[in-house]
Amino acid sequence: MMDGAHGSHGCRDAPLLKERGQREVFCGLTAIVWLHRKMQDSFFLVVGSRTCAHLLQSAAGVMIFAEPRFGTAILEETDLAGMADAQAELDREVEKLLSRRSDIRRLFLVGSCPSEVIKLDLEKAAERLNAQFADVNVVNFSGSGIETTFTEGEDACLAAIIPGLPKTDARQLVVAGALPDVVHDQMLGLLEGLGIGPVTVLPTSKADDPAAIGPGTVFALTQPFLNETHAALVRRGARHIAAPFPFGEEGTTAWLRAIADEFGVSDDRFDAVTAAPRDRARRAVAQASAPLANRSVFFFPDSQLEIPLARFLTRECGMTALEIGQPYVQREIVGPDMALIGEGPVFSEGQDVDLQLDRAREARADLTVCGLGLANPLEAEGLTTKWAIELVFTPIHFYEQAGDLAGLFARPLRRRAILEGGASSGGIEPPSDARGLCHAGGAEVEA
Ligand code: SF4
Repeated sequence: MMDGAHGSHGCRDAPLLKERGQREVFCGLTAIVWLHRKMQDSFFLVVGSRTCAHLLQSAAGVMIFAEPRFGTAILEETDLAGMADAQAELDREVEKLLSRRSDIRRLFLVGSCPSEVIKLDLEKAAERLNAQFADVNVVNFSGSGIETTFTEGEDACLAAIIPGLPKTDARQLVVAGALPDVVHDQMLGLLEGLGIGPVTVLPTSKADDPAAIGPGTVFALTQPFLNETHAALVRRGARHIAAPFPFGEEGTTAWLRAIADEFGVSDDRFDAVTAAPRDRARRAVAQASAPLANRSVFFFPDSQLEIPLARFLTRECGMTALEIGQPYVQREIVGPDMALIGEGPVFSEGQDVDLQLDRAREARADLTVCGLGLANPLEAEGLTTKWAIELVFTPIHFYEQAGDLAGLFARPLRRRAILEGGASSGGIEPPSDARGLCHAGGAEVEA
């Protein structure tokens, strides 16, 4: 099952084109947009600038929310002169927030990249505040745009929680990665059907109901960007179940199979639980992927989902990958997906955006998957693009979403075909990406 299309290891050991130049990505603060929905008694306090506050507001949309779960403590440039004042100011803001909001059980102090924030020691601040507020767990992590791609915000958040989780020796499965509720429930249903348990999903929705971790824990990842989370779980004695990621019929089956093997599930039971959804997924992908067959795709590094998605597109949708760029390539995590990808594509890690733009222009793939900043200029040059960020804000995991996942990539190609065919606008779908990312609310806490 794990063999690649062209040899036993596919592209598992493929050389990487490593680039360390200018990058075009969102910063890790973006992850707060989906994390605050999953962690219902947590508050994300971004310690940042007005730019950070604006990013959050525009990424999360504007909605009046009675009890927002994120906000920004804005450090003005004048604070540079006195870090002690900035620490005291931060403490005052936290006190104000926690006295108003007794529902907050976990407070994240989220670092950002303005220089005045970098100089603030948020780890110390978290320690100090933890001592002061006994019933609130204060944790810090960085969402800075200097070091991170936007999905690394979730990775940093989960990795920051893990050291403080209780210890257990019990045999259990931990599944790490924030998923939309509908997908989360489908996953638990499949695991339950296979008789696998107990299962804990990270992040848990309540800080008071923490996952416990220890040497009896085996864990699976649902998101390929959880590099630090992986390392933090291993440090706690847990063991990773390496597998392709659960995108498409094949990826979902391989992911479940790896866990089922770990828990000794019989082939008969596995087939009984997965046969019907596998069949539905296969049929949905076949229907949705028709416009993708024999088309080429070029991935800019953005969401950190690129390698598993390239595996899905090349093996289940008939596409050819020309370049697969991913911000970081950790073979321990994405190796099983690489092993399934046939020889041919260039694998690039990191970015030097001008050089990569030259390659994309030369390749002129039928579909270019990239960040928002690059999409419009490339569209203007006649390339058809897909916004990578939409893949993170849309339910795409597991069997029932496999057809939708293929459809997300097919839509821009269909739109381009209609435009080039001169069809009336009545039949043209709006760019899928223009439908808005998410709508939530944020409070601004002025420090
Ligand atoms: S963390 Fe940095 S990149 Fe992100 S919004 Fe703030 S200033 Fe911009």
